[in-house]
Amino acid sequence: MTRYVMVADLNRCVGCQTCTAACKHTNATPPGVQWRKVLDVEMGEYPNVERLFMPVGCQHCSDPPCMEVCPSTATGQRKDGIVTIDYDICIGCSYCAVACPYQARYKVETPRFAYGDQPTETEAIRFDEGRIGVAQKCTFCSDRVDAGLARGLKPGVDPDATPACANACIANALTFGDLEDPDSNVSKLLTDNTWFRMHEELGTEPGFFYLWNEK
Ligand code: SF4
Ligand code: SF4
Repeated sequence: MTRYVMVADLNRCVGCQTCTAACKHTNATPPGVQWRKVLDVEMGEYPNVERLFMPVGCQHCSDPPCMEVCPSTATGQRKDGIVTIDYDICIGCSYCAVACPYQARYKVETPRFAYGDQPTETEAIRFDEGRIGVAQKCTFCSDRVDAGLARGLKPGVDPDATPACANACIANALTFGDLEDPDSNVSKLLTDNTWFRMHEELGTEPGFFYLWNEK
């Protein structure tokens, strides 16, 4: 069995948002849509304050509420844990966007591009008409993962089989890999570090882990 997850090291993330830019470039998401975004969080009270940067997006939950409420079965889950949306089946009801506790889903009604009515060169290549009027979210770059696997590459190790955000991170804060493999990069990080998941109390079993060593 395989379970692909992302590990974000909050001790390393510097909030540069290169991951956000890499995702937008790779997936040609329109203005206002960020499949991978980075929260800027302030904690504590003066003079004991701390600031951390937290990459967020679809958590690829094991028990995803978005899938439970989907009336058309457009939301699905692969054997490797990646939560999917079939744009051809989605009816755009947005039940999933309401049900998602992580605010990971978007819906865009008309084509929009970064600089006006016309797509940039990369937007023209990656633009997907099928995403208009339906739910969309981070895919863990499943197309890259699948293309890489077909070439015998290892997701999380070989860049061509790894999500664009993890490849682009300047601080090595994002690591992708197989949680079911005890020797994988993500398994080792989770064994060696203190970690948490967002809204653990909801029982969604997110596939997104945060390393955080309180100082
Ligand atoms: S984070 Fe939201 S959209 Fe992603 S699997 Fe979980 S409930 Fe669904
Ligand atoms: S690229 Fe890396 S360091 Fe920059 S915001 Fe994203 S996760 Fe943080």
